[in-house]
Amino acid sequence: MSTFKVAIVGAGPAGYFAAQALQNLQTPELQFSIDMIERLPTPWGLVRTGVAPDHPKIKSVSKVFEKIATTENFRLFANVELGSDVTVEALQEKYDAVVIATGSAIGKTLGIPGEDLPGSLSAADFVPWYNGHPDFANFSVPLDCDTAVVVGAGNVAMDVGRMLALEPSELDVTDTADHAIEAFKKSKVRKVYVSARRGAEHAAFTSPELRELPKLEHTNVIMNKSDIDGALMRAGSEPEKDVKSNLDAMLLITDLENKGHERTLEFLFQHTPVAINGIDRVESITYSVPDGEVTIPCGLVITAIGYQAAGIDGVPYEKGKVVNNEGHVKDNLYVVGWAKRGPSGVIGTNKSDAAAVMEKLVSQLKSPKSIGDVTELLAGKKFIDQGAWEKLNAHEVAEGEKSGKPRRKVVDRVQACEIAGI
Ligand code: NAP
Repeated sequence: MSTFKVAIVGAGPAGYFAAQALQNLQTPELQFSIDMIERLPTPWGLVRTGVAPDHPKIKSVSKVFEKIATTENFRLFANVELGSDVTVEALQEKYDAVVIATGSAIGKTLGIPGEDLPGSLSAADFVPWYNGHPDFANFSVPLDCDTAVVVGAGNVAMDVGRMLALEPSELDVTDTADHAIEAFKKSKVRKVYVSARRGAEHAAFTSPELRELPKLEHTNVIMNKSDIDGALMRAGSEPEKDVKSNLDAMLLITDLENKGHERTLEFLFQHTPVAINGIDRVESITYSVPDGEVTIPCGLVITAIGYQAAGIDGVPYEKGKVVNNEGHVKDNLYVVGWAKRGPSGVIGTNKSDAAAVMEKLVSQLKSPKSIGDVTELLAGKKFIDQGAWEKLNAHEVAEGEKSGKPRRKVVDRVQACEIAGI
């Protein structure tokens, strides 16, 4: 029997599905010892810090992650950062294979004047802020204006728009970070625009997300019928299935009567941002539209136009992704998930993607190394293992239960380590 050691860097969906794929490829002759390294004190990646808190069902995939993590020969090393605590090169020496699963954490920018003004933010900062990511605990979100604009027509823009336009007491029963619920309750934002640069037929929203909008109980949702009729015409008589499903869902929204709620979420199509205006902070945004230009007064602009991967020393990058050939980077280094293919697809997309890369990895293995593992590289650095994480997880769930939430997130790193017992 041969046991190969594999280090997976990043405890998000792509990392867990890579571990699961390796577990599934095991035979009595071929075994894997898997060490997962994560820089935060908590695992689950975007399932914890990305998925919108009002979408708890999507987060139930964490049960699958915990099953993978409690399988024999799997170890978690959370609170360990690649770069400062361990290097890719050192991992490559100790392990038979190293898998990068660090995602895409940096928001793409519009590259238009005024983007650096206070009040102009990226969804890459706003989303982790409301989701209790420790790096964003002190991030300041100016919610002291009447109107906010979200740029982008993907599911992240949809999440951001919904979070801004929801009646904040609806978040009381979610795992939204305490600091964000408090800020949303003080928010003066009542009008939220989500703007797409192209017509509705090109929107990257998916139809389940569109179909839940009419269910918002305290928010008017507005789409202009002429925008959707125009999109239907341009899409022709046989639009692709996803486009048709989206446009059907949008037509239902155009039929909604204005219920006179205090809060409104309105969708704009064929609005290309050309400038964010203001002196000391955002005061308005100017769009190019089919018949000229339009300027919308607003105090907050959030861009949700996609992500790119952050660089890691020793890993080649190009165009916001790790340079790879179907998941193989170089030598015994591999990549999965958004760091490999860019920020596309839903959580489940990572399962088949990681499985294909792990098959390739296994086909390229030679004979097992026997020169230690990450524990020898950590030089006394305190890390959170699976047992410590389970302690922290149980604490958060128990704290949440007291107020009808799935969990109450511990945001502060030091406190998280203390509760985890390290
Ligand atoms: P996305 O789906 O790729 O959408 C990006 C949007 O930004 C597109 O509408 C794009 O418009 C627009 N955009 C790009 N550059 C722009 C520019 N310079 N100016 C104006 N608009 C620009 O990305 P995402 O929303 O970040 O989502 C990432 C992935 O996560 C997607 O696969 C998404 O479905 C998934 N996700 C899923 C869920 C869920 O299942 N509930 C939730 C969140 C995210 P163009 O088409 O014109 O380029």
